[in-house]
Amino acid sequence: MTGDHRKSVGIDIGGTKTAVAAVDFSGRIHARHTFETASERGFTAGLTALTESIEDVLGGARWLPSELSGIGIGCTGPVNPLRGTIHNPFTLPGWEDAEIVTDLGKRFPVPVILENDADAAAFGEYRFGAGRNANPVVIVTLGTGIGGATILNGAIQRGVNGDHPELGHIPIVSEGPPCYCGINGCWESLASGTAIALAGKAFQFEDSRAVFAAMSHNENAAAIIKRAITSTTAAAWTLLHAILPERIIIGGGVGEAYFDLFAEPIREKIRVATQIPKNKVQVVKAELGLDAGVIGAAALAFQNTNP
Ligand SMILES: [Zn+2]
Repeated sequence: MTGDHRKSVGIDIGGTKTAVAAVDFSGRIHARHTFETASERGFTAGLTALTESIEDVLGGARWLPSELSGIGIGCTGPVNPLRGTIHNPFTLPGWEDAEIVTDLGKRFPVPVILENDADAAAFGEYRFGAGRNANPVVIVTLGTGIGGATILNGAIQRGVNGDHPELGHIPIVSEGPPCYCGINGCWESLASGTAIALAGKAFQFEDSRAVFAAMSHNENAAAIIKRAITSTTAAAWTLLHAILPERIIIGGGVGEAYFDLFAEPIREKIRVATQIPKNKVQVVKAELGLDAGVIGAAALAFQNTNP
């Protein structure tokens, strides 16, 4: 019998690397394995690599496949979580329309759950990290891009067709840089690591890290970072009023490295807001760090099991 063993396998599929881990019911990793995704080799080869990796971590943890509550997959989107299929020709070329849930389910006798990687990481924070015991929770990932997810009543909030709402494309200023989402001046175009690096290039900064490093003594760098912060504060104002979360969690490479820089102006705005119960809304830092992907994916298999 499956579903009551409180062990699962989490898989975090990115364009470059795939991480697989054996994770228990407290969110602890017992064994892990990472390999090059190399999707261009085709999905059959990918499935073989995934199968071997799952067997590898199960061996490392000394668990049997039949002991698992399930296998959770967080995959760089777009994915269709309801059909269990991957649709990302840009980041995962060669895996178009891969039926990963059906195919892995044939190899392991347990439920297989697929989600967008941002949703999986958000669910991990909700279950095992900074979002524990809060409802609703909004997770914002400030990194190369800007992503976000909402956990409402313990479930990932989906859009039409089961699709993942893209919180990173909230409009901020109509005169901003163009974005692939279809407008100018969305949050991601102003505050992502890519946006900061792009703005910094005009002033000979090598990357976003260099812009952050120079912000205390270079006015161009300071202006770029200020734009990222005010954009993030404006987007947070929208999220606070549209969703009214109990907790906003800030994660991602940029968000975690410069957490106070982004969190404090949001807290200031909460203090002056008249339409939200200010002492009930918290802004906190993500806790799972680099393991958020695999732990979050594994947590998907515990969705229907109470803590
Ligand atoms: Zn956009």
